[in-house]
Amino acid sequence: MTNLVVNWHITEACNYKCFYCFAKWQKNENREIIHNNEKIIQLVKEISLLPMIVNQNKGTNFTGIRLNLVGGETFLYKKKILEIIKEAKKYHFELSAITNGSLLDGELIEMIGNEFSSIGFSIDSLNSNTNKEIGRVVKNTPMNINEILKNIQLIRVINPNIEIKINTVINELNKLEDFNLFIKNASPTKWKIFKMLPILTKENSINNEDFYEFINRHSKFKKIIFSENNDEMTHSYLMIDPLGRFFQNNELSHGYDYSHNILQIGGEAAIKQIKFNIHKFAKRSNLIPSISQ
Ligand code: SF4
Repeated sequence: MTNLVVNWHITEACNYKCFYCFAKWQKNENREIIHNNEKIIQLVKEISLLPMIVNQNKGTNFTGIRLNLVGGETFLYKKKILEIIKEAKKYHFELSAITNGSLLDGELIEMIGNEFSSIGFSIDSLNSNTNKEIGRVVKNTPMNINEILKNIQLIRVINPNIEIKINTVINELNKLEDFNLFIKNASPTKWKIFKMLPILTKENSINNEDFYEFINRHSKFKKIIFSENNDEMTHSYLMIDPLGRFFQNNELSHGYDYSHNILQIGGEAAIKQIKFNIHKFAKRSNLIPSISQ
């Protein structure tokens, strides 16, 4: 059974303000889907049809969906997340999410452990001052790495088989950091290391040499490291923005290309309006470790 991974960025809102945050989409007259239960129901239904549509268009053989919930901060609107999960379960979606980890409480930890096959924590620095500089701070309190480690262990107690991922974006401020002890303690199944995409800002972006130096400094974890440079990231994700449009990174200019709203024209017409490279997607699905260039 192969699931098509659909990344739904459910909200742009976040409790942090990272300077390189790419969770910024073109506004129009519509509100984010997440604030309207009817629209959540409709969009989840449209998503459920995507394996069939992609199979017809690309000759693939997807049998289901893994719905990956992303933000902004995915767990900012707790009640709404619970609504999405209720709908997704009707279609037997596999569920996963990416979070900055700062808003998890007992109820969410339990829900993640019980309902999700995978949870990714976005951790870009282990240093309080760097986290402040990056913007991972609320009222002068930077993100708490020990709290995240504790929550990872709690999730594992509920579901020892859950896949724990760490996502790290490398930029000028964290490129020299040593994550070895943290990764040993968190013991993730995967550590995805991204080169900061200069989509919305070039400030503090790095070159390939800096990027691969960071990766090679952590080579003892090469079996779990999955790195992606900018080309590998382009057109290789199926992504829906908070207003319900497919979007992709634009290779020529900064920003995104959008489809029309999925709820207005349907998923079948909307997916044809964006570029989706099934070969790059498949390469990632095979999850080929790429420790070297
Ligand atoms: S934690 Fe993630 S979503 Fe929030 S501001 Fe930072 S990069 Fe953006």
